[in-house]
Amino acid sequence: MSVNLLDFDAKALVGFCAEIGEKPFRARQLLRWIHRLGEADFAGMSDLAKGLRDKLSVTAVIEPPRLIGAHTAADGTRKWLLSVGAGNGIETVFIPETSRGTLCVSSQVGCALACTFCSTGRQGFNRNLTVAEIIGQLWWANKTLAEEFEGEPARDRAVTNVVMMGMGEPLANFENVVTALDLMLDDNAYGLSRRRVTVSTSGLVPAMDRLRERCPVALAVSLHAPNDALRDQLVPINRKYPIKELLAACNRYLQAAPRDFITFEYVMLDGVNDSMAHAHELVKLAADVPCKFNLIPFNAFPDSGYKRSSPDAVCRFRDVLMRAGLVTTVRKTRGDDIDAACGQLAGKVLDKTRRTSRALMNAAR
Ligand code: SAH
Ligand code: SF4
Repeated sequence: MSVNLLDFDAKALVGFCAEIGEKPFRARQLLRWIHRLGEADFAGMSDLAKGLRDKLSVTAVIEPPRLIGAHTAADGTRKWLLSVGAGNGIETVFIPETSRGTLCVSSQVGCALACTFCSTGRQGFNRNLTVAEIIGQLWWANKTLAEEFEGEPARDRAVTNVVMMGMGEPLANFENVVTALDLMLDDNAYGLSRRRVTVSTSGLVPAMDRLRERCPVALAVSLHAPNDALRDQLVPINRKYPIKELLAACNRYLQAAPRDFITFEYVMLDGVNDSMAHAHELVKLAADVPCKFNLIPFNAFPDSGYKRSSPDAVCRFRDVLMRAGLVTTVRKTRGDDIDAACGQLAGKVLDKTRRTSRALMNAAR
């Protein structure tokens, strides 16, 4: 059976080359062809000998997820829908800004953690994405953007930043996500800076410690509530890893992190977590961890049961944090006309779990 070379990081490619009797430098060449140049056909790899190309084509494939849809929003935000087989689909979003281009990458088909305000969470969980399916999102984005703007300066149109903020909980798919992160950082592949790759987690404490050891990149933590009673409701994994443990894990993470702060994400839900009292409570919590805040206006989806906080409420909330000396940004809603805004990514998830508590516990391990 053929192996998919998109599943391999540099080390695994060296191993593969050894198995087929090739020197390690071939792995570097393959990495460049596949990831830097977006080549999926061995026949196009012009500096590999014909014999090697033939050998590769019988032992291996380069198979990204199938691209089944692409949309561009009025503000330039792009969204790609990729099929990952068996009726499942995932979404990837590209957000161009003047000085950077950010790709929002999915890590799972659905999510078992069932945060109540999240469209992905509502859909249940099907499976983890493979390395090829995770890195394949960056592969497609780079390839599509490069082809479309051929000949024009790459600035503003290339992926300079990756945020693992698409569908799924990245730390619940740890090994595959870390291998994909290794490829994002590898100079022969995508060569992104560690500071420009962000993992966003709802707070899987043991996996945060493992990430610190294996591949410390920038970290965003989905906080969303200033106390356990409320967070237990919004982010059910809090019942397993409550706020105090989460903040301790953040401090441990910072010892190895490429940035000297954690970004706390806080979705603004009207009448739920957006009062002045909540803001003051948050200020007290934040005193224990070097952090910045990113307030996210809630993005609605059908039957969510929540409403977005008013712009006024968001401003007042932000002002309390800022007056306490906490750097606070309000996330601009991008791409909402193509359902590409945070928490709106739905893809196509055939739920296998019916969100049983067993699935929740498995994902949390
Ligand atoms: N599972 C990870 C990463 C994916 S979600 C996590 O939870 O951090 C990325 C961000 O979008 C998280 O902060 C999440 O809480 C937020 N989000 C989820 N649903 C949302 C919605 N409907 N509106 C706004 N933000 C949402
Ligand atoms: Fe999963 Fe993140 Fe959505 Fe929670 S917010 S259900 S962890 S994707």
